[in-house]
Amino acid sequence: MSDYKLLINGALVNGDAMLDVVNPATEAVFATCARASKAQLDQAVAAAQAAFPAWSKTSIDERRALLLKIADAIQANLNDLARLLVQEQGKPLQDAMGEIFGAAAFFRYFTTLSLDARVVSDDATSRVEVRRRPLGVVGCIVPWNFPMILMAFKVPAALLAGNTVIVKPAPTTPLTALKLGEIIKDIVPPGVVNIIADNNELGGEMTKHPGIRKISFTGSTETGKKVMASAADALKRISLELGGNDALIVLDDVDLKETAPKVLGAAMQNAGQVCIAAKRIYVHESMYDAMCDELARLAGEMVVGDGLEQGTQMGPLQNKAQFEKVLGFIESAKKDGKVIAGGGRKGDKGYFIEPTIVRDITDGAKLVDEEQFGPVMPVIKYSDPAEAVARANASIYGLGGSIWAKDTEKAWSLAEQMESGSVWVNKHADLQPHLPFGGSKFSGIGSELGEEGLKEFTQVQVLNMAR
Ligand code: NAD
Repeated sequence: MSDYKLLINGALVNGDAMLDVVNPATEAVFATCARASKAQLDQAVAAAQAAFPAWSKTSIDERRALLLKIADAIQANLNDLARLLVQEQGKPLQDAMGEIFGAAAFFRYFTTLSLDARVVSDDATSRVEVRRRPLGVVGCIVPWNFPMILMAFKVPAALLAGNTVIVKPAPTTPLTALKLGEIIKDIVPPGVVNIIADNNELGGEMTKHPGIRKISFTGSTETGKKVMASAADALKRISLELGGNDALIVLDDVDLKETAPKVLGAAMQNAGQVCIAAKRIYVHESMYDAMCDELARLAGEMVVGDGLEQGTQMGPLQNKAQFEKVLGFIESAKKDGKVIAGGGRKGDKGYFIEPTIVRDITDGAKLVDEEQFGPVMPVIKYSDPAEAVARANASIYGLGGSIWAKDTEKAWSLAEQMESGSVWVNKHADLQPHLPFGGSKFSGIGSELGEEGLKEFTQVQVLNMAR
């Protein structure tokens, strides 16, 4: 028996097994939750299939009303959800509050969208309309870095379009998702939203499940490839939001004191575990030394600690595997460059890593070419901005990127040459619900958010009548 149950067909149920959840700040198991079996996944899919005909026939206003109720319910539980998020994920409490609040806001945002039929012709010879139909059951697979907001990229859009959903959080952060199930149980018609938890074995089952028509996946590129392969058999729709290696390019005219803290924030937010964190910092040679010094000074001042402690600016890495992976990146960076801030584990309990700055490192080094997904920032020198953009583009990834300059026209024209799905000027990682978000190359397929994101949960249908 556990406090955190699965939501299947409108009922909170125990799992066929249990899952321990570790607080990454203490390394101690602090909760146990229900873990679904394959049979329970099948029950959830059957419930979602059974709920689909009625739900897909509701009016869009009814569906909007449900999204608003879910948003209100999330907001009414903001404090509890935020504290739970800190305990399972590690981030500072104020960031967790922002994430939960953001999740509610994203549910609200989708109520502003419509899926009206587009009348192509209506004359003496024909009536033709392009319509958007729901797909059926959608599987929403979520990673551990932002368990709630990334769920809210998917679920409201899928529901508004008339689909029913199965949500599966990551095994190390299942609690906020399961808690959400408890909160919305009496609001949502049975089977319309089902929430299950696993220990990494049901994602693959979902992607090949014949009862699921679409997988909306956020996670690593390696797992994304598996999703694509296993979705092929049932010709399932997929959208993949995958890894990134965002370049942040600082031109020679910026105000150093003003820019450095923003650059640091772009790399260190959520302990660097952000798909669109700035992961490679290219700085013009004219200010390279001064920028490295300032970044190192600021990194040294960051308060790293338990997210529930007041004043914490950066929490631990979310799980042991990621913690060890990031320590490996630091070891390789010690050979490939010069560590000028941080450089190792902080303390001896919890998955804490010191905010680390590495200079005199360049393309070809592991820390520059691969996705570190942690608080370790390589600062790379360049001389020609066009060459910096070319180096930014010379990556398998293409998620985000940014250019920083006082000369905004120059920055804009360089931004136009970046190959990533989002490019920012004088900011980084500005995600908003009305702006489509997605990656190019190995960073993904399709978009989430905005009208584009909503349409990914639909099938186009043309109604064409002779007169
Ligand atoms: P992951 O790929 O290991 O896990 C993501 C989810 O997939 C989890 O729920 C997991 O249980 C599930 N899963 C595992 N095996 C599966 C399989 N065979 N089929 C289907 N699902 C399966 O990723 P992670 O380590 O949790 O997350 C970190 C990665 O996610 C980073 O690379 C990061 O850049 C990326 N990410 C991308 C975005 C984006 O929007 N592009 C956002 C956040 C994170």
